[in-house]
Amino acid sequence: QKAEWTKLVDEKTTTADGHHVELAANIGTPEDLEGVISNGGEGIGLYRTEFLYMGRNQLPTEEEQYEAYKKVLQGMSGKPVVVRTLDIGGDKELPYLNLPKEMNPFLGLRAIRLCLEEQDIFRTQLRALLRASSYGNLKIMFPMIATLDEFRQAKAILEEEKQELLNNNINVATTIEVGIMVEIPSTAILADQFAKEVDFFSIGTNDLIQYTMAADRMNERVAYLYQPYNPAILRLVKMVIDASHKEGKWTGMCGEMAGDEIAIPLLLGLGLDEFSMSATSILKARTQILKLNKSDMVELANEALQMSTAEDVVQAVMARSNL
Ligand code: PEP
Ligand code: MG
Repeated sequence: QKAEWTKLVDEKTTTADGHHVELAANIGTPEDLEGVISNGGEGIGLYRTEFLYMGRNQLPTEEEQYEAYKKVLQGMSGKPVVVRTLDIGGDKELPYLNLPKEMNPFLGLRAIRLCLEEQDIFRTQLRALLRASSYGNLKIMFPMIATLDEFRQAKAILEEEKQELLNNNINVATTIEVGIMVEIPSTAILADQFAKEVDFFSIGTNDLIQYTMAADRMNERVAYLYQPYNPAILRLVKMVIDASHKEGKWTGMCGEMAGDEIAIPLLLGLGLDEFSMSATSILKARTQILKLNKSDMVELANEALQMSTAEDVVQAVMARSNL
């Protein structure tokens, strides 16, 4: 089986009926690149930059960040690299910031909320990204966006930093797509409005499921509520994908669900453009997708959207997709 997979390292990911999707990788550090390339990743769909900030006792400098981003962009030789700006808070703490304890850290001042408040941290990261941008195909993504106002503020800060660099004759790539993670239900529901202003969406199902089902993603006792195949989740995913396509934009997914063999037929049917997963899942997913017909999966997904439970959805997938 492994041998069958490795033959597909340089293949495109195209369904039996000729529909192309992109299989990208989630990474945490530049050291992960080797695995991405040997497993046939067509890009980086999520670079979690938190690791640059963690396991140390002060913020990383602009220079340190610039080197890391440059390494990843160069290493991917022009393939798309989606870098997510700092997503700290929730389960990921930075003790050296001395932030006040919160009663509900997952509902607190995390990710973009923190970055808009502590703008020095945010601006340093954006400058490092912009300076690295000329070394590859950089796309910038903001995490935990709940309102359009947050997106507009973040984008305005990015534009300011870009202008400042250009005024100082520093090279910045001419086109950098700017997108958001969809991991809060309000953003999925309002995706049609967001789609007019963002360049792309990437659905973060790890958090989107947690916030939609009101079930802590780390709590074993409510794990039964953590339901990627719940039709409620599928409907949110559909809203996001449809909204993006209506505006000529694309939608990816970088939560665990994107690499899940039961979810993949459904996501293909819902029209997902990019699947970002751990590098070690890519060849298996490619093998699976090559055998599927997009048109059959559209039918399957439409049926699933009308079902009432996750169990029914799983049964339908099993019956219809050679699993
Ligand atoms: C997600 O929420 O799905 C996601 C990809 O982000 P993280 O797992 O880093 O919260
Ligand atoms: Mg998340």
